[in-house]
Amino acid sequence: MKDIIALYPGTFDPVHNGHLDIAFRAAKLWSRVIVAVYDTPSKSLMFDTATRVALFTQAVKDWSNIEVRAYRGLTVEFAREVGAQVMVRGLRAISDFEYEYQIALTNKQLAPEIEFCALMTSQAYSFLSSSILKEVALLHGDVNDMCPPHVVDALRAQALSRQVVEATAKRI
Ligand code: ADP
Repeated sequence: MKDIIALYPGTFDPVHNGHLDIAFRAAKLWSRVIVAVYDTPSKSLMFDTATRVALFTQAVKDWSNIEVRAYRGLTVEFAREVGAQVMVRGLRAISDFEYEYQIALTNKQLAPEIEFCALMTSQAYSFLSSSILKEVALLHGDVNDMCPPHVVDALRAQALSRQVVEATAKRI
């Protein structure tokens, strides 16, 4: 294995087993994986950046070659900053493909020296997304098979605090 750093960028709001599957497989392919948690995405998030980084870091604590960092701005600039030669993404379905293809080609134009690699999701996680995970958790469904226990706890805390806010609003 050559000494190659792979960057795995995403929003990870929050990290789930599908994300971890890609991170662990990448860590077996390349010497170092840097999980890059996007700091300013243009969507409304459940968890702030520090929490998203902390949840991912806890999930990969047994993997010495996986590091989790927050970043802002262009992903390719961050890849250059950390010396990544490869950018890795996960592909769930054909519906993911068009978007990932567009991003990969744009990034290739911006940074021709970086290779883009998509790993196919494992079948067990092909249905899984952070949006589905949050929706089920907020409705108090069982998410134990979808993410690590500490993420289940964080989701439960969010569901509870939202319940309190709603109950208080009704009383006012
Ligand atoms: P985005 O980065 O597009 O905002 P995410 O943070 O959820 O979305 O995903 C980060 C990366 O992980 C993306 O490449 C996405 O396709 C991949 N991914 C998300 N869910 C899964 C899954 N269930 N299996 C494999 N890869 C996934």
